[in-house]
Amino acid sequence: MKDWICKKCRKYRRFNPEHLRLGQIICFLVFEIEGVEIKKIIKEGVLLKRMNTILMVLDHGKIFYLKESDVYPIDAPADFVYNMFGECFCFSDY
Ligand SMILES: [Zn+2]
Repeated sequence: MKDWICKKCRKYRRFNPEHLRLGQIICFLVFEIEGVEIKKIIKEGVLLKRMNTILMVLDHGKIFYLKESDVYPIDAPADFVYNMFGECFCFSDY
């Protein structure tokens, strides 16, 4: 988790989608509707291809097209980490 801490302010950085590499495992959220229930499902897939801001992700033989802002690396800090320890807004280079 150390890589996620900003050297300037010591708070946690959000990841930069431009740093995603092809072949990297990423997480994304899909919704399934069952009757009146909306289920949030976190999926993991492999980044296959990038077309501008759209990513092509493979999960169990299925292809998903996702916006780069809707995915995050598998080792990214969870949202509560930002709430607890603060989020970096330095926008400094990695
Ligand atoms: Zn910072």
